[in-house]
Amino acid sequence: MKKKSAKDLQNIIAIVYDFDGTLAPGNMQEETIFREYGIDKRKFWAKSRALVRQKGYESTLAYLRLLISDPVFKERPLDRKTLKRLATQLPYYPGVTQGYFRQLTSFMNKIPEVREWGITVEHYIISSGLSELLDGASIRKHFKKIYACEYDYENGRPVFPKLVINDTNKTQFLFRINKGKLELSEGINQHMPAGKRRIPFANMIYIGDGVTDVPSMTVMNKSGGHAIAVYDPNGKVPREVKKMIAEKRAEHFAPADFRRGSLLIKILHRTLKQIIHSISFRLSSRRSSDWVRRHW
Ligand SMILES: [Mg+2]
Repeated sequence: MKKKSAKDLQNIIAIVYDFDGTLAPGNMQEETIFREYGIDKRKFWAKSRALVRQKGYESTLAYLRLLISDPVFKERPLDRKTLKRLATQLPYYPGVTQGYFRQLTSFMNKIPEVREWGITVEHYIISSGLSELLDGASIRKHFKKIYACEYDYENGRPVFPKLVINDTNKTQFLFRINKGKLELSEGINQHMPAGKRRIPFANMIYIGDGVTDVPSMTVMNKSGGHAIAVYDPNGKVPREVKKMIAEKRAEHFAPADFRRGSLLIKILHRTLKQIIHSISFRLSSRRSSDWVRRHW
């Protein structure tokens, strides 16, 4: 019998994370670049908002422009080398760098259906932060693909943003993951029947923390995927999270605590089991009908 590819089997599960406020506290630029350059975050964001108000900049482009053109960066450009070094200073929520990915793999490997049907998990990040910072992060190796804002560099210096990710265009990347068209050079607008998609939405879990994740969560929800809202473990449940649940954008919410036994991990395990169950159910029923077809 011809060996079926993962596309036919649809036995890959994707966990898609937002970064700021989801895997890490705060904002990646503030925690790294602002600290390094001694930038007052209130002043910086006020300048960024002024570009939006006065010149009609899209808000992500406004901050990307400031990181090039603000006098501080004119004097000492934010080159690749600096970003790579700053990436090592990124803080994370509990558990993220202490075994979360390894424990998730071992959880999966203990489930018999995972082995029986060759089910695998892939991790992705979609963030409006800076790609260079995430590329240098210690957790980079766990991710199949990271989508974030990216500059074009000339002589090591950023000259122009070549990829901008904001809350609404974040959803494009969910479709890239869904259709298996991960590279930006690959078109994604062509119709692809549900059965041919590399990772069906039903096999996707989106984890995010705020209003910027609402469009992505809405896509997940409407397409049969799963969405989990998280919040700072040191704070109370924020209004946005309550809203996401009340408006049925997310199915669950939990503190962003990735340690073994946390509420988030329990929810993730439960969701993974449900996905694994439906993959194995679908594939075993397909095996029965294939057998009957051959022996008719
Ligand atoms: Mg966020």
